[in-house]
Amino acid sequence: METLDSSIPDSLADLRLNEALRLLRQAGYPDPLASGSSGSALLQTVIDALCDLSLRDGLTGLVNLRHFRFVLEGELDRVARTGECASLLMIDIDNFKSVNDTHGHMIGDKVLQTVAQFLAQGLRPMDTIARYGGEEFGVVLPNSRPAFAMKTAERLREEVEQNPITLDAQTVLQITVSIGGASAAPWQRTTANELIEMADSELYRAKREGRNRTAFAPSAAVSISPEEKAMLLATRLENLP
Ligand code: GH3
Ligand code: MG
Ligand code: MG
Repeated sequence: METLDSSIPDSLADLRLNEALRLLRQAGYPDPLASGSSGSALLQTVIDALCDLSLRDGLTGLVNLRHFRFVLEGELDRVARTGECASLLMIDIDNFKSVNDTHGHMIGDKVLQTVAQFLAQGLRPMDTIARYGGEEFGVVLPNSRPAFAMKTAERLREEVEQNPITLDAQTVLQITVSIGGASAAPWQRTTANELIEMADSELYRAKREGRNRTAFAPSAAVSISPEEKAMLLATRLENLP
């Protein structure tokens, strides 16, 4: 039988909270027991922190693939219902294997964390950046037309290029990224997989064409008739508060 943390209030003592509290402490979350709350308020703080932890990548602190897909699907639904545009960027660090091979896996991890920070700092609060896998990041840009998404991608690429990472007095690493982007056509139902495939194939084009560059999918033509569009708009206007 697990011994309970003696600081867990009596009202929650019969719940097995120790493991949850240990995980949260280990991940650097504020200690829920230090918040001064008790009973169901304390339990809610623990649940909220666990939910947040379950959405995040452990190395970079960015959201994980599961949450990324959830956000992307929500945005694509909005594009189909409201005619707003949304865009997706897939970002991959160039020649990252050689960073690991030359400097070791721990330095590789540090580079991943630093690049994640650079990228996250260059986005709007409404955007979502995720660690998509390995040394690849995905960015969902709500309400973003292709021209705006392309500008954002170029800004992110430059941000990484212009900020070499200092490891120590002798070692400065010049890191670059390649970016593939695609936009979902307004009023249409594009699936998350379709948009990811489009952005991914642009990412491979950017790699093929020499790396440290951005490639963007040509905009798909809007294939609904003006009558359908007018009807969709009218429904939307009628439903405004
Ligand atoms: P490219 O420009 O074509 O993308 O080349 P690359 O070397 O970046 O791509 P490749 O797929 O050959 O290598 C990716 C490397 O990323 C290999 C893998 O060990 C490393 N990697 C993936 N995840 C992590 C991680 O969490 N930490 C570290 N340090 N390395 C990782
Ligand atoms: Mg790579
Ligand atoms: Mg990769």
